[in-house]
Amino acid sequence: MRPSLLDPLFRPLTSLKGAGKTMAPLIARLIGGDKVVDLLWHLPSGLVDRRFSPLIAEAPDGVVVTLTVVVEAHQEPPPRSPSPYRVVCRDASGFVTLVFFHGRARYLTDLLPVGETRVISGKVERFGGAPQIVHPTHVVPLAEAEAVRRVEPVYPLSGGVAGKVLARLIAQALDDIPDPAAWPAEWIDAPLKAREGWPGWIDALRAVHAPEDAEDLRPDHPARRRLAYDELLATQLALLLVRRAARTVRGRPIVGTGALRAKVLAALPFALTGAQSRSLAEIEGDMASPARMLRLLQGDVGSGKTVVALLTMLTAVEAGAQAALMAPTEILARQHIETLAPLCASAGVRLGLLTGRDKGRTRAALLEALAAGEIDILVGTHALFQDDVVFAALAVVVVDEQHRFGVHQRLALSDKGRAVDVLVMTATPIPRTLTLTHYGDMDISRLDEKPPGRLPPDTRVLPIDRLDDVIAAVTRAIDGGAKVYWVCPLIEDSETGDMAAAVDRQALLADRLGPRLGPRVGLVHGRMKPGEKDAVMEAFSGDGLDLLVATTVIEVGVNVPSATVMVIEHAERFGLAQLHQLRGRIGRGGGRSSCLLLYAPPLGETARARLETMRRTDDGFEIAEEDLRLRGAGEVLGTRQSGLPVFRLIDPLLAEDLLAIARKQAEVIVETDPDLAGPHGAALRVLLYLFERDAAVRTLRSG
Ligand code: ADP
Ligand code: MG
Repeated sequence: MRPSLLDPLFRPLTSLKGAGKTMAPLIARLIGGDKVVDLLWHLPSGLVDRRFSPLIAEAPDGVVVTLTVVVEAHQEPPPRSPSPYRVVCRDASGFVTLVFFHGRARYLTDLLPVGETRVISGKVERFGGAPQIVHPTHVVPLAEAEAVRRVEPVYPLSGGVAGKVLARLIAQALDDIPDPAAWPAEWIDAPLKAREGWPGWIDALRAVHAPEDAEDLRPDHPARRRLAYDELLATQLALLLVRRAARTVRGRPIVGTGALRAKVLAALPFALTGAQSRSLAEIEGDMASPARMLRLLQGDVGSGKTVVALLTMLTAVEAGAQAALMAPTEILARQHIETLAPLCASAGVRLGLLTGRDKGRTRAALLEALAAGEIDILVGTHALFQDDVVFAALAVVVVDEQHRFGVHQRLALSDKGRAVDVLVMTATPIPRTLTLTHYGDMDISRLDEKPPGRLPPDTRVLPIDRLDDVIAAVTRAIDGGAKVYWVCPLIEDSETGDMAAAVDRQALLADRLGPRLGPRVGLVHGRMKPGEKDAVMEAFSGDGLDLLVATTVIEVGVNVPSATVMVIEHAERFGLAQLHQLRGRIGRGGGRSSCLLLYAPPLGETARARLETMRRTDDGFEIAEEDLRLRGAGEVLGTRQSGLPVFRLIDPLLAEDLLAIARKQAEVIVETDPDLAGPHGAALRVLLYLFERDAAVRTLRSG
């Protein structure tokens, strides 16, 4: 249970004044969360200094000032006039005119009553020599002057949220932080804190939200570093606790005879790459040890993870146990079955398939066979982990395409399988700096070598106005026997209306390809039922279709070896990792393939650099590093959608040194006080809850 100390911070945004039903969701989208605490993590990106308080006559042009004035007269424009509403004010040195476009008289006479003194803040401009302020940011009575005459933080904003509204909410959130006396002791090591000159965490939060000068906004400012460290420590501690929980359940040593693997290796038309052999040796080492395996197999698209998965599972079968392979979608589960079936047949290994679609009798029969040990390897989707799925002797689980499974899911897997070894496979090449922050609970094997003979796709970057040329080229390719993917970012027209819509695209391409090829243009998108999707994919991989218009549903894993051409529309809107995943779908057959990245001009500098990276290299790790460099860590993995932990306060690139320290401290904690029962335990638990690493706290004996 979250300590009640934190309750005020975990209330919904709507509990704050100024965050109503319409505003709260907009703010939640902006700050990436819908609780009060999420406001605290939304740090200022700039500041406005309103401390300068000259006389009107001395206010320089174009500079933000705070003036103390007396309201002299209102000049309301005649009805329907385009002129603005003007309010003339003065001080001892002269006059200033406040200008309001579409100003309402009632509101403005209340705000600025004639003869009263007001404190106003804004930028003075001289219009024909006369000073004026267009839409002053603040207008308050003298008594509130101090609230205005200060350095004001400026927050990153997005559509529909006004800076003032957000600032007021953040101020409320800061007020909601429980009194320092109520908090347990500091969670950061005293010597570290002293060495770095860090403030306590409440002081640090207050400081980052009240910058005094540009220095205070730098990521290496002590207050910002302290908060970044808090988050890193929470993350590393959570990962290590999860890792420990996963491993303290003793596994049983699984040692295969090698007999089945030998048969499959003999049936394969190729030899394993060095990277495959090395990874397999690491996996076999884990399985043979009594501790549980929790290993990540990282390998670019096409690096040959499936074979490694199969040989891993065969080790378990050789030892008289069972194995399971979990895919993120039904299509992929079926594809795995197709790949594995002939190989398993050659070794006499019994395969089963279980998806969410299996119901009734078939399902019951399958479950019975599974419980009786008559199935050696079960392939499926999340359906594998329903409560009534009982294995006779499950020894290893392989999870494919890890980026859809976060720490929470990894924990759930461990619960289900008790002493089961877990191998997670991901095709997302993760930059080295991010591996520890995201997968610190796992051991890692890397398939950093592609099978021989692969030709990288020939990639070209073209503006969308070359569409006619592209269609002509695609038609020629189809006539030459090629199959073509055509990728669109969205299914339907978005509000902005300019997004290429897959539905419309199919209609257009079918039309332009004419009566002969037009009917051979298919469509697959995320809102289709699984059965419909399968049918379309089948037609495309078989004889039925030549061109497949698709949204990003094809991204993950789908294998159509005869597809050699890919067109990606609005390539500039995709992440590099995603483009790389998509492009990995072509050229799987070994021949020459081509990829056309279409963009809508004009391209910004970063977008151009990103597409150029795609053109230049096919190395997923290199692309990932470049993506990280160009965009910053938060976006690289599409963390929000992927279930990976989202970092609120950190740019891992800038905080590499802190990451190492946090990892160290977390290791010491888990070694000396694994149940967080010691003197710092209470503080560390609060830290974990603060950063919503609740799953890790649940692994503690006295959670
Ligand atoms: P991914 O890592 O993307 O899942 P796959 O396992 O689907 O990659 O393998 C991609 C292709 O490479 C498959 O057709 C597979 O048969 C082939 N392959 C795998 N290992 C090797 C190898 N050592 N030599 C040649 N081809 C291989
Ligand atoms: Mg795969």
